Amino acid sequence: MTTWLIKGARILGGEAADLLLADGRIAQIGRGLSEAGAQVLDADGLVALPGLVDLHTHLREPGREDAETVETGTQAAALGGFTAVHAMANTDPVADTAGVVEQVWRLGREAGHCDVHPVGAVTVGLAGERLAELGAMADSAARVRVFSDDGKCVSDAVLMRRALEYVKAFDGVIAQHAQEPRLTEDAQMNEGELSGVLGLRGWPAVAEEAIIARDVLLAAHVGSRLHVCHVSTAGSVEIIRWAKSRGCNVTAEVTPHHLLLTEQLVATYDPVYKVNPPLRTQEDVQALRAALADGTIDAVATDHAPHPAEDKDCEWAAAAMGMIGLETALSVVQEAMVETGLLDWAGVADRMSYRPARIGRLAEQGQPLAPGAPANLTLYDPSARWTVDPSAFASRSRNTPYQGMTLPGRVVATFLRGRPTVLDGKIA
Ligand SMILES: [Zn+2]
Repeated sequence: MTTWLIKGARILGGEAADLLLADGRIAQIGRGLSEAGAQVLDADGLVALPGLVDLHTHLREPGREDAETVETGTQAAALGGFTAVHAMANTDPVADTAGVVEQVWRLGREAGHCDVHPVGAVTVGLAGERLAELGAMADSAARVRVFSDDGKCVSDAVLMRRALEYVKAFDGVIAQHAQEPRLTEDAQMNEGELSGVLGLRGWPAVAEEAIIARDVLLAAHVGSRLHVCHVSTAGSVEIIRWAKSRGCNVTAEVTPHHLLLTEQLVATYDPVYKVNPPLRTQEDVQALRAALADGTIDAVATDHAPHPAEDKDCEWAAAAMGMIGLETALSVVQEAMVETGLLDWAGVADRMSYRPARIGRLAEQGQPLAPGAPANLTLYDPSARWTVDPSAFASRSRNTPYQGMTLPGRVVATFLRGRPTVLDGKIA
């Protein structure tokens, strides 16, 4: 295995140092390191971050390989600085058995661009009627610890309670897509003044907040772990803050797009902005940024949701919901959180690597950059500026809301257990 000597990287944006990567681990960190035979990478001016961990990625395989495959989705992840992703269960077939989660896990290992941790479905076929084989998925080679019906809400309170009780046995977590289904029938965008003006069916904030409120109480009642997917409203933040203050074992994530974009974009009727949960108001964006900064929201998760053109390039009401986000996540977080002074790079490492790895119970990811740690890291140039051109993405889909926008920062290199998956901004 090649030994790598990374020269002069700013560790978490701080002091410049050299990193020696050998045998899959960080062997040394210090100034003026040298090593005969090592491959040298000049990282002058680059920020070294621990490899990013995504809690919420849709890889679409099996079943929708026209939208994405494990191969293309994990290439996109590596290009975005990720060394691990959690692959959501709403595939076809649904990842609700040991067989399907092992298949996805194996495809990830074969592709080799980042670690793929399948998320298991909570209910059979995401139908919300009976629990899936949670224990068998936990015991499988994929060692599933995160379970979610994402795309759909586990709306039955009894089933949700039983799921929370069941995963305690193996320290699992239920990741809830909080959307009260009756309150959001045919919903097309955030409910408010603008939805009235545009004549689109509204998606009220209370539909998200009511489920979160119920679930934090259920999780506290059974003493289990709850994770809230893609929080999108100021009211949700208040409930999670209250629950944490009472000692409830709840964690939460926010997407990059909910940190940057608002419902105003829906006025274009461009379906690229149609997403679940919907883009909200400027006040919600401010509350989400503040909550990520103060730790009420634990993690940034992309909710990378690839769709082929035929599912997006149609009229608003008929278009699929979702946007891709792996290759732009760190740049959007830089724009929304770092350039606004809300987070420094150590904070970004915490919210995009350490904490998501802990939530997913990943032992070999989300470790501080230190001698002996697995050599999972990304080298990032925060001074770069680039114009988003989805035709250059590794993702098989093109549904990015940032097309044509200039974003800060670029991932220059990514290492997975000491082996480069990205070099010079390209798949290695
Ligand atoms: Zn979701």
